[in-house]
Amino acid sequence: MTPSCGVCASRGEGMRFVSLCCGIFLALALPASPSGQAVGPQPTKVASASKVPVHTKQKVAKKPPGPPAKELFSAIKMPAAEAARSIGFYAKGCLAGAKALPIDGAAWQAMRLSRNRNWGHPSLIALIEKLAVEARAHDGWPGLLVGDISQPRGGPMPSGHASHQVGLDVDIWLTPMPQERLSAQQREELSATSMLADDKVSVDPHVWTDAHVRVIKRAASHPIVERIFVHPAIKKALCEAAAHDSDRSWLHKVRAYWGHNDHFHLRIACPASSPCRAQPPLSSDDGCGKELTHWLERVAPKPPASKPAEPARPQPPKPEITLDQLPAECRAVLTKAPGGVAIPVAAKPTGAPDKASKTLAPTKRAPEVGPTAQ
Ligand SMILES: [Zn+2]
Repeated sequence: MTPSCGVCASRGEGMRFVSLCCGIFLALALPASPSGQAVGPQPTKVASASKVPVHTKQKVAKKPPGPPAKELFSAIKMPAAEAARSIGFYAKGCLAGAKALPIDGAAWQAMRLSRNRNWGHPSLIALIEKLAVEARAHDGWPGLLVGDISQPRGGPMPSGHASHQVGLDVDIWLTPMPQERLSAQQREELSATSMLADDKVSVDPHVWTDAHVRVIKRAASHPIVERIFVHPAIKKALCEAAAHDSDRSWLHKVRAYWGHNDHFHLRIACPASSPCRAQPPLSSDDGCGKELTHWLERVAPKPPASKPAEPARPQPPKPEITLDQLPAECRAVLTKAPGGVAIPVAAKPTGAPDKASKTLAPTKRAPEVGPTAQ
């Protein structure tokens, strides 16, 4: 299985376990603010010939959404050549001046090279390199296998993630790095190992080790790390391992979440020099009490239903994120040299104006949408 979290993964690539995770993460991660959708039909009073007020609907032409932003961002192979800036929010933003994690380093190897997602804010790249070296030197961990970070200019991706858009998120496999240098093909085909036991609510002692605890603790202990997401069973194992530790201050940063059974998702804080938006601060609770109990109940296998379940109704596809929904600065990031793309001009609205809108007062312009309007 390919690690790609649901903070992270949502579609395809054989990652069924993460689809739920991603959707819910989005709900948690996206700003808790009005969605900013364009104003829809508004009831407006007009006087008829008989002087009796009637209600009709005033139609406002909707702005065409343009191509999904993921198509624009995934087409660019190089970062924007400017100072590093994470722009927007983890799940709705972009990245300028990205730095690549070298595919091989002193104590790491980058995976899934064909995706070209080994780009991040220089602060995150430096942290990954440092963590890899420290883990090998002090934790009995042979090195990091590093999964997705971000695209060269961040932004939404064609597959696999909701966040990872501003170069501040990285997926790190829970599979120890092999001694040999992996070939490009091996990096595409090697599967990460799930840490879960058959009961799905505890870790498998055949694969989970004390070294896993040490690596995650080390990662969470770095001051710039804001959150780490792991499967609830892994969170439980960490709580148990740290039960008698004098230092448990790192534990509250490690939060239980869907998926994440074969990798952990590390997120650093918004750098001071970047126009990005922080998440609400975590509670100081270590997450080992009621919260963990609740999570374990959610991921525990359910007993078979007494009667066959009705087939689920097909759900309409989720709307794609368009450029309009990203911070305005992301347009400039897309067009920068080298290799920037031209932004397609949105098509004009089609169709004849509605009769009602001709006879009514001038319409108000629909408000801008997305985080820039907040
Ligand atoms: Zn992730």
